[in-house]
Amino acid sequence: MTNSPHISLESLADIAEERASLETLPDAESHLAVCETCNATLQNLRRLLFLMKNDTTEDVPRDVLMSALNIFSPATPARLPRIIAVLTFDSRSAGPAFGMRSIRTASRQLLYRAQETALDLRVTVENEECRLAGQVIRDNCPGAQIELSGATGTVTTELNELCEFSFPAIPLGMYSLRVRMPDVEIEIPELELKD
Ligand SMILES: [Zn+2]
Repeated sequence: MTNSPHISLESLADIAEERASLETLPDAESHLAVCETCNATLQNLRRLLFLMKNDTTEDVPRDVLMSALNIFSPATPARLPRIIAVLTFDSRSAGPAFGMRSIRTASRQLLYRAQETALDLRVTVENEECRLAGQVIRDNCPGAQIELSGATGTVTTELNELCEFSFPAIPLGMYSLRVRMPDVEIEIPELELKD
């Protein structure tokens, strides 16, 4: 998380729980003074802590706090324009040349387009698990992150210098995919990963 301009969730949680170290606090405070995103997250964390501490006198476990925060995160202000990507090609339905049994074990290719950006996705299913990899096709993709959210959680990865990415194996199911770039977010709201 050292590349992120924002305060890490861990640090925000420390601040919310009033156990941030004095060394990091001045930096965080000056960032919070100017960053609405981190402020919104911090406020959500404080609200969560308040709600949770009404339920129990014990300290809230960090992982419980983090997963509860995910419920709130759609409410944090999205300041970037978001473009919904549209499916333009699916090798599964692209006709006989792609539908042969002999390539059933090969990757399924999905192409999406969002204005001047294209997303080339490769879906490989093996042992009831799915591997999703691909490439963002665009003039440049500096510092872009790509995020895959589903019923079992969210995984995030970064594009390499060729704008390629790959996720670790995940369960089959319905996901949403987001590419976060400095100037825009591209989203595939419903990406069904199945055999
Ligand atoms: Zn921030």
